[in-house]
Amino acid sequence: MITTRPHPFNSRANDAVRSYILSRLNEIDSGTRTALIVDNDIYSNVTWQEGRAGRYFEGNNILVKIEGRNPELKAVLFSAHYDSVSTAYGATDDGMGVVTLLQLITYFSKNTPSRTVVFNINNGEEDGLYGSHAFLSHPWSKEIGFFLNLEGAGAGGVPIVFRTSSYEVTQALKTTSHPHGSVFSSDTFALGLIRSRTDYSVYTAAGMSGLDFAFYQRRSYYHTMRDTISNLNGPGSLWLFMDSSLSIGRSLSQIDSPETGRGLPLHFDLNLLSPPFSEEAPLKVLFYQAVNLTEQSSEVQLTGVEGYIQKVVSQIPSTWQHPISCEADALSRLTRCKWNSTTAITKDMVSLDTEVIRSGEATLTVKGQNTRFCRILFDRPVLAFHVNGSAGEVRHGYSFPSNGTTELQLWSRERSKPFVVDVSWPQNETLQGRASCGWSDSQDWEDHIPAFKEILDFLPSWSLVSKRDHGLVEASLEFSL
Ligand SMILES: [Zn+2]
Repeated sequence: MITTRPHPFNSRANDAVRSYILSRLNEIDSGTRTALIVDNDIYSNVTWQEGRAGRYFEGNNILVKIEGRNPELKAVLFSAHYDSVSTAYGATDDGMGVVTLLQLITYFSKNTPSRTVVFNINNGEEDGLYGSHAFLSHPWSKEIGFFLNLEGAGAGGVPIVFRTSSYEVTQALKTTSHPHGSVFSSDTFALGLIRSRTDYSVYTAAGMSGLDFAFYQRRSYYHTMRDTISNLNGPGSLWLFMDSSLSIGRSLSQIDSPETGRGLPLHFDLNLLSPPFSEEAPLKVLFYQAVNLTEQSSEVQLTGVEGYIQKVVSQIPSTWQHPISCEADALSRLTRCKWNSTTAITKDMVSLDTEVIRSGEATLTVKGQNTRFCRILFDRPVLAFHVNGSAGEVRHGYSFPSNGTTELQLWSRERSKPFVVDVSWPQNETLQGRASCGWSDSQDWEDHIPAFKEILDFLPSWSLVSKRDHGLVEASLEFSL
């Protein structure tokens, strides 16, 4: 049920997965003696700043709590995300995490733990760790001392603990029947070699102490259509994941020291992919389509390893009629090829209203048809912003930079919701930029993203496609104030 279709936050399939999880919790609850406290959290909204981008997110995590025998002790958090990326079925990332949480809930509801246990079955992880951020504005987050984060950074195989943040939680590993953790001296996460950030970093930044437990093998399948149940080679990986999670979870729930201890970090290096590429070890290419509604133009972009990406692009029929241009992307050390496309330009995809209140102050109302994601990009830093409906404060520890912000990312629980945003910038200056909205819904490929469908159909067998940005397709309108 969870992995039938790609189910990113911004998709209808995501709603179906969410309903399924709620119905499973109902079943579990009716079969146990200890009542589950389920919080269908459709009210936590969170605003914060990361780098030069401000973020506003309306969460819809599913939270579960089971009271422990010693409720005065700090609680243990178990976390996994139920969204996938737009280009994957999400069996490993993070379907196995979600079903493991459901099993742990079943277990703890029949075997009352020492510490209280809390489960964050969260949404929007793939778009920017939004579900863990939203959790931190929920009152239960204040009770947490330790956590176990379940992730899928590959596809199947043997799961591994690749990060821990303290001595106590590392001790919890000793109890597993298959402790599989590798110590790496270099801080590979800090070096940015692993591009998959996880909720672990959000929880530790909030002062919790915990472990990141994840699948890492077959990294090339990660975030692609090959992250399926059939590629897991049977239930072995899942059993191993559940078994280890249960052992770690049991010992975390029994830690009797009240404090979190000194750092003893474990790190694991996920291999970067390199040629030769084959069906077994495919090249990953990243898809993105940019539609400029002001100019009524559209451009398809595929990004990948220099020399190979050109071969992939040459297989795509629509490139036979349009000139292709490829350039190196200094940041990622990959090459981005692009060509014009005539698809996906629909006039009413995005609407934008601007109202200047006074010099240096305006209200922008941006709305995307049938989507939950929009953003506003500014040509100069805005000095302040406020999203209607937000609590009005930027989360502690993620303060607004003094030199302003150049991008606002906006996520809503409902589709087609207008975002009303107040911004201010230096008086007597002009403010220009683009308001855009993105679509990721695989169910709407036929309507919205035929260029992506074409890539899926014509991609060489030695390559796989993944998403490059929050939307598979993003349409923008320019403004000048
Ligand atoms: Zn994930």
